[in-house]
Amino acid sequence: MKDRTHSLPSFSAWLNKGFDLRAYATQMSDARTEPEIAASSVFLAVFHSFVFRLPSFQQLDSELAHSHLQHWIGAERAFGDDTLRYSLCGFDLNPLETMLVDVNCRLKRGKAFDEGRVQGRLVAALDGIEVLSSFSRRCDSCLERRVTLKDQAGRKIEQTQYYHRAVGCQMVHSPVKPFLAIEWLQPGEGEDTAALRLLNRLPDLYGSRFFDILLVDALYAQTPVLELVRKIGWDAVISLKQNSRDLYQSAVRLFASRPSDTSFTEQRDHKTYRVQLWDSEGLPFTIDNPEPVRVVRSEEVLDRNRYREGELTSHSTDHEWLWVTTLSKQLFPTPVIRQLGHSRWKNENNGWMDLTKHWAFKHGFLHACRHRPKQVTACGEREPVSNHGLAAVTFILLIAFALTSAFVLRHSKLARRDHLTAVAVAAQLRASASKAPPPIRAPD
Ligand SMILES: [Zn+2]
Repeated sequence: MKDRTHSLPSFSAWLNKGFDLRAYATQMSDARTEPEIAASSVFLAVFHSFVFRLPSFQQLDSELAHSHLQHWIGAERAFGDDTLRYSLCGFDLNPLETMLVDVNCRLKRGKAFDEGRVQGRLVAALDGIEVLSSFSRRCDSCLERRVTLKDQAGRKIEQTQYYHRAVGCQMVHSPVKPFLAIEWLQPGEGEDTAALRLLNRLPDLYGSRFFDILLVDALYAQTPVLELVRKIGWDAVISLKQNSRDLYQSAVRLFASRPSDTSFTEQRDHKTYRVQLWDSEGLPFTIDNPEPVRVVRSEEVLDRNRYREGELTSHSTDHEWLWVTTLSKQLFPTPVIRQLGHSRWKNENNGWMDLTKHWAFKHGFLHACRHRPKQVTACGEREPVSNHGLAAVTFILLIAFALTSAFVLRHSKLARRDHLTAVAVAAQLRASASKAPPPIRAPD
């Protein structure tokens, strides 16, 4: 009889055959000299802790001591939190990024992004996320802000908070939604600066035709972003809010003076949306850059039935959305722009939110680690390497996220047959690591 649950050996065989996981693991390196536990084992340990969705590094410690994971990742002995931190702080980020890019390219060649195309196009979204914040622990690359809190007596006090923020670009139209790249905000710079850096790097990593349409937030409704997108050859759908005052006001004024161009009712997840859409081409983008752009406005009334004190009552809320786009009306009718605009918004639920909720992403892994390998500087002094821990762990998470989503959503017949969630598959793989002893050498 065939196995009724997922096993680590068959998952690993799929990873090695399709994505060269073990070959990539051997490429990993860090700043330690002659370490007892190889960087490849550290990489595989963290990779599996994300695959199994372990809640913390401490949990990984105990799995390494009590399951067959230790042999599976090629380590001679169990190792702890301290070894992981010491290695990851000085981890080389280049092989990690190379691997993430290669995983995504293989997913594309394997047609993982064919499903869900919008008018035949591939769609990616750019978004910012706060990765961690702390009032006490800080490192050299922390961002800082003043926040108001209440002390124990309920008095308002101001305190400095330290945090890390990044911008990520993620495929969003298909069921498998891997991140393509990530860029960390440096102290003192805005999210738009990091986003431009990321967008500039994307064609070098993937070529300019990896996706066709980029969805971005209102923060990026700026001339440099629009120019860059056009130069690379993408199209864009950009949320429009009051921060782009001139365009927002002229669109709102224009649309207020006429009835909607299209209206319809949509049923989704037991909710009814009454939608009215306006669409106009040729509005000037800004005063300084009056190039004509297309603006779409959606006015949506959401009707929901609720039980209040035993009685069914109907409840309505109004929502307004505006988008600027470079897409033509001919190929992308108004309702399609609305659909694209909302898929960026859904990204907030499916992208970073998923990572923080189900992947323990916000745990302050390695933040502000003082114990780091030393290197000799140009002046001959020995000083700790700059801390790459958070960036390294984030890359490993994004690699694990891409591969496990593809495994669950595209490869696994069991997941389809038994309607398993990704979290359930993770639990089966974790259980498999502590059950059947793997062969002496893991299969390639
Ligand atoms: Zn920091």
